[in-house]
Parts: sequence; structure tokens; C-alpha cells
Amino acid sequence: MTGAGPLTAPEPGWSIEADVVVVGSGVAGLTAALRCAATGARTVVVTKARLDDGSTRWAQGGIAAALGEGDTPEQHCADTLEAGAGLCDEEAVRTLVTEGPRAVRRLIEAGARFDTSAPDGPLALTREGGHHRNRIAHAGGDATGAEISRALVAAIRGRPGLRTVENALVLDLLRDAAGRTAGVTLHVMGEGRHDGVGAVHAPAVVLATGGMGQVFAATTNPAVSTGDGVALALRAGAEVADLEFVQFHPTVLYLGPDAEGQQPLISEAVRGEGAHLVDADGVRFMEGRHPLAELAPRDVVAKGIMRHAAALGTDHMFLDGRHFGAALWEHRFPTILAACRSHGIDPVTTPVPVAPAAHYASGGVRTDLHGRTTVPGLYACGEVACTGVHGANRLASNSLLEGLVFAERIAAALRRPGPAPAGRPVPWAAGRTPLLPAEARTEIQRVMTRGAGVLRSDASLREAAARLSALAGEAAGTPGASGKPAEPGVESWETTNLHLVARVLVQAALRREETRGCHWREDHPERDDDRWRRHLIVTAAGPGAGTGTGTGAPTGTAADTSTGTSTGTDTGTGTGTGFPPTVRPTASTAFPPVVTEEQQQ
Ligand SMILES: Cc1cc2nc3c(=O)[nH]c(=O)nc-3n(C[C@H](O)[C@H](O)[C@H](O)COP(=O)(O)OP(=O)(O)OC[C@H]3O[C@@H](n4cnc5c(N)ncnc54)[C@H](O)[C@@H]3O)c2cc1C
Repeated sequence: MTGAGPLTAPEPGWSIEADVVVVGSGVAGLTAALRCAATGARTVVVTKARLDDGSTRWAQGGIAAALGEGDTPEQHCADTLEAGAGLCDEEAVRTLVTEGPRAVRRLIEAGARFDTSAPDGPLALTREGGHHRNRIAHAGGDATGAEISRALVAAIRGRPGLRTVENALVLDLLRDAAGRTAGVTLHVMGEGRHDGVGAVHAPAVVLATGGMGQVFAATTNPAVSTGDGVALALRAGAEVADLEFVQFHPTVLYLGPDAEGQQPLISEAVRGEGAHLVDADGVRFMEGRHPLAELAPRDVVAKGIMRHAAALGTDHMFLDGRHFGAALWEHRFPTILAACRSHGIDPVTTPVPVAPAAHYASGGVRTDLHGRTTVPGLYACGEVACTGVHGANRLASNSLLEGLVFAERIAAALRRPGPAPAGRPVPWAAGRTPLLPAEARTEIQRVMTRGAGVLRSDASLREAAARLSALAGEAAGTPGASGKPAEPGVESWETTNLHLVARVLVQAALRREETRGCHWREDHPERDDDRWRRHLIVTAAGPGAGTGTGTGAPTGTAADTSTGTSTGTDTGTGTGTGFPPTVRPTASTAFPPVVTEEQQQ
């Protein structure tokens, strides 16, 4: 069994029992929890901050579904496949677009209030990049995610059989002797009935931890989006797919070259309503680059901005919506208007400076159509998952829908009698993963934006890989390195997760020598279907958990397969531990990621 050691952390001091533990409380997590609880399963939702802290709350544009007159799931499917640039799983897309409209209606029944074209009239539907139809339902003008979050949080409050644990960071997966999921370890922050490190024992774990935008210096994602679910899954030996496909949103408010962390998004819906992308001279540079101009798929617009900016020797462009007038801005885009004004820019009178920033992880923990990962009992839905829906690039507003649809499918798959009870958790075979200090976070983010951002090349990615590798050595205190492993804590756990995700992402981006979807290689500017119409599947090489008595020495190589494999550049060694695991770090956080290619069907 593959995998790596768990994060260095104290041993669990308490435990609770459940049938299902859901990690995360965005659209995916809360939908899964509601549906599981409705079947009578004892459901525990664990979430890192408050229930509404996650990307869902920030979603502006809306949720895509074939709900309008004349629109069909087939047309939605065609647009999704086009955006995915040859790497979508067509069956997954068909599932999304055919089950999507009913899932949105159930969300409305659960209490979400979407904008209508008249009081008690039909839903008001708008259009976004890559859609050939008006099919984006929205709420509160540009506050769709906030309304979905409000409705779902209200729906779970006081729900029988459903328990929530807020301000609790899930660390790692527990497994039984048969390798089945047996729950999670978690750290509860602050005072309460439980605090410190504990465990939720459950035979089913649903990862709904959202995205990984914080791995880059500038992102639209909130602070909780640190890729924890992908890192946990990798350590547990699960397959992760298509991580190189990070969507950079083309129009994020530009706050200067040194801006870091979450930046305000200027939704695609602003372009959908007719705002133009222009340069400092007012030239509409997207015209002639794509038939849909400003409404081309996001990667095309992001590239258009970067190329035109580079040609002019600048790093940002402008979004001109002055012709909307104050009334439209105030009615349709109140959140964006307020965000711009809070930074001293008034879109009613001034073109808004914009630049691309990390926005959405198209890849993630690989699942089948029922949300099952490659580890028995471990499920994933929402942005953390790779269901195959997005391929090489997500179509705008498909992600809220994906969270809804696949969370419902997981609950259906888990419907009672549900999975067999898990056995007792067994020791991890690998030693614990040493932690990176909190201070490494900024460096990881800068390295990633510089080397693996919108513009990527062999040289930039190799430089990023080398620096990330050096950081791992420093964490492990390997000979010649100056640092020491950091103490366990939220900051160091998150930083270690960011680092792991960053390294895997760089390995995959380095390997994919072509430009496709949102992966843009300057040294390989063309899409190469003959060689690269395939997925990159990553696992962590090493004994992982559940082998009970392993020696815990992560292997440094991976066998070749007929589809081709490669290893990461790092090697690691380690020592086995008993359970509860002792705090004995492996020699490096740098267990080698194994990258396997898989032909697209
Ligand atoms: C600014 C912005 C605008 C967007 N606009 C749109 C849009 O208009 N339409 C659209 O379809 N999509 C949009 N997206 C994308 C969409 O919002 C997300 O993909 C979607 O909300 C993800 O939902 P989720 O439930 O998977 O994750 P999230 O909503 O991000 O929730 C993740 C949850 O996991 C928790 N968590 C994370 N790690 C841990 C851990 N270790 N332990 C415990 N809990 C953890 C977090 O606290 C959070 O509760 C937008 C995203 C952003 C950032």
C-alpha cells in the first residue's frame, strides 16, 4: 500500500463515533451532510473555521444548469467538453448536466432564494465565458455563494442526527487492518467539550475541503483553501489526478505587484453583462483572439491578458464597465462595486485594473461517479475532488453545481445500511511527516507564482521544484540543511500541506510538455493530442497507513508501467511506528510523488 506518514501531531486524546464524517462545510460538505443525515446516518461535519468559511461563500457569478427555455443538458454538456480541452470524462459531464437542474431545484426547496426576472417569475439566467446559452442562475445579484451558504447552514442547524464541529482542523485519515477508512484525526482549536487532538471514528469519510488557491501568492480563494484534503489523501495513499490544471481567473482586482493572499474577484458575469477588457489606451485586445472575445474560456482570456500585457511591458489590463451606469452596478453587482470602492476604485467612473490570479483547482482527489476514491471508505466531492467533469479547464459556474450533484451521489452511495463497520484503527507504517515552519508559507507561495503560475516553462518549474525540495530538507533537518522541523500547530500543519500540494503540482506541470486548457507551457505552446491526451495520476510512494507492521521506508523509485511512469526528484527514508503513532519523523517530507500517465478514453 502506498502513502506517506501522518503529519507530526500529538496522539488523539479523545474520540467520538459516527457513521459518516464530512470534512468541510461548503456547498459540497453541507449538501453531503444533509443528505446523509436524512438517511438516518449519524453524521459529523468537521470544519476548519466557521461553517460559512470557504470558497462557497465567495462565489459571485452563479450556478450553471440547463434551466432556461430552449436550453438542454446536451448543450451544457457540449460547452463543458469544449472548455475541458479533450480531458473531460464525458460520462461524468453527462451526469453533471442531466442531474444538475433537479439538484438546483432541490437547493431552492432547501431554502436558497435565486434572482427571478419578475416577482414569482422564472429564474433570471445570465451568461458567462464559454457558455453559448444564458444558463447561470444567481442570487442577490452577485452574491450567489453567500445565499447558498446561508440556506445550507440554516438547513443543517438543529437537524437530528447531524453534529457540527467548528474550528477543527482535520489532520489525517485513520484506517483499519484491512486498509479501510476508520475515521480521521483532528485538532479542535479553542475551548469546548473537546479540544486538542482527537479522533472521529467512522467507516466513511467524505472529503469536501475545497481548493488549494493559497498555494499561490495571489488568489481569489479564502485563507482556509490550503489543499488539506489533497494532502491528506496523498498521505493516505489515494490517487490524485490532473493537479497541474489550475485555473487562473483572468479578472481579479489588481492591487499592485506585491499583493498577497485573497484578492477580490471581478466576476465573469460583469463581462457577461457587457463590460470590455481594454488596455491603458482603451483598445479591446480580446477582439480577434477568439470568436467569443471577452467571453472566451478563462484560459484564453487569461492568456490574452498576459500576452497583451507582456507586449506592452505592463502586468495588468482594465475592465471597462462605465457604460453600465451607477444603477446597474448597484443593482446587479453590489458586492463587486463595494469591493472596488473599498480599494479606491469606482467602476462607475473608472476602468477597473485587473490581472489573473489562482482561482480554481480543476484536478484533485480522483473519484468515480459515486465520489469513491481509491481508498475504500474515503469519498471526495466539490473542489477537492477530480470527478473528471472539468478536464483541463473548468467551465464557469460548473463548480457549485458539481459540489451539489456529486455530494448527493455520495449520500446515495452511502445510503443505509451503508458501509460495514470499520475495524480498529491500525498503526501507520510510515513515520510521521516532519513539519515546515509557518514562515515557509510565504516562500512557497512566491515560488509557486513565479515558477508554476500563469506562465510556466521547464526552467521555471525546475527552479520551483528545487526550491521546494530544499525547503523539505530544511524541515527534516537533513545533513547540510540549516533548519529544524517545526512544532505541531495549525500554521505548521497547513504549511506542510501547502508544500506537499505544491510539490506534486510542480511535478505534474513539469511532466506535461504541452499547452492545454489552463496549463500553459511557454516552451511547449501547442496542444499535443497524440502525446498528451492523457491524465497524470499521482500517488505518494511509501508504505502509508494500514499495513500494520511495515518498516516505513518510503521507496525512492517507481516501477515503469505500459502507460509510463516517472518519479519525483526526491527520495525519502523513514522508520515504522506503532499505534498510537509516536512522534518520529521520516527523514524528509519529500516522499517521492509517483506520476503515472493514463490515456483519455
Ligand atoms: C471568489 C470566488 C468566486 C467564485 N465564483 C463561482 C461562481 O460564480 N460559480 C461557481 O460555480 N463557482 C465559483 N467559485 C468556485 C466555487 O465557489 C468553489 O469551487 C466551491 O464553492 C467549492 O465548494 P466546496 O464545498 O468544495 O469547498 P469550500 O466552499 O471551499 O469549502 C471547503 C470547506 O472545507 C473546510 N476545510 C478545509 N480544510 C479543512 C481541514 N483540514 N479540516 C476541516 N475543514 C477543512 C473549509 O473550512 C471549508 O468549510 C468561486 C470561487 C471563488 C473563490
